[in-house]
Amino acid sequence: MMGPSHALSGAAVWLAGSWALDQFADYHQSPLALAVGTAVCAGGALFPDLDLSGKVTRNQGGATVARTFGVFSLFVAEVMEKISLGVYYATKLSKDPRRNNGHRTLTHTLPFTLLVGWGTTALCAAYGKWAVITILFFMFGLALRGLFDEWAERAGWVIVTLASAGAAWFTFANLPGGRGYPLIGTAVGVGCFVHILGDMITRAGVPILWPIPIRRRMWTMIGLPNSIALRTGSKTEVVVLRAVLTVVSVLATAGLIAPSVLQRFNIDI
Ligand SMILES: [Zn+2]
Repeated sequence: MMGPSHALSGAAVWLAGSWALDQFADYHQSPLALAVGTAVCAGGALFPDLDLSGKVTRNQGGATVARTFGVFSLFVAEVMEKISLGVYYATKLSKDPRRNNGHRTLTHTLPFTLLVGWGTTALCAAYGKWAVITILFFMFGLALRGLFDEWAERAGWVIVTLASAGAAWFTFANLPGGRGYPLIGTAVGVGCFVHILGDMITRAGVPILWPIPIRRRMWTMIGLPNSIALRTGSKTEVVVLRAVLTVVSVLATAGLIAPSVLQRFNIDI
């Protein structure tokens, strides 16, 4: 799946989940908390592709996510890809094929998803304000890059970086203290998980069962069979899937804000 589809799926899942919690579990969120969670989940849904490195020295290539903060994020992607490849070789069994890059390995597993969600929550709890603002800055950058890809491409990474910093600061200044922290870790973790599910419906699949060994393989790639799998960049992905995700997001948002709008309307009249 391409970057924008991943980001959009993260946003759609977060909004639909928030709507379900609001309807059935009586769990209500402020509009700001909802917006932050949605943006962080959209950003988190791009995070696993930080293992797709480009050419740092020539400032080229890499996944959507790797280009968010220019050469800085390309460098991080390079490191992440090498670490992933290292973990692949450290844990590979005799039937696992040799490979020369780490894309779609470590960062596309459930332990990684849990680690990122837990790590984010732990960082926010330990360092408070500064961890929150740093993580928000990073996730907003990814979300902008993914959700508004054409704009981000035209604007360039400097503008994207400045916009993310501004949004992170605004959120930090307005989010009630203490309450928003577990939400951020959850949103990042859910985003990573949604990314993995998204890649599972494409042809290559992901090693979702790692580290469970199956027939002398640790890195069994699980995905839909080729005949029904989604082709990356195909019309089905770019038009149909994105339209469905957009409709889900819009309906969930409407469902979440309609009651309070109606209520205000009644009170005002
Ligand atoms: Zn991926």
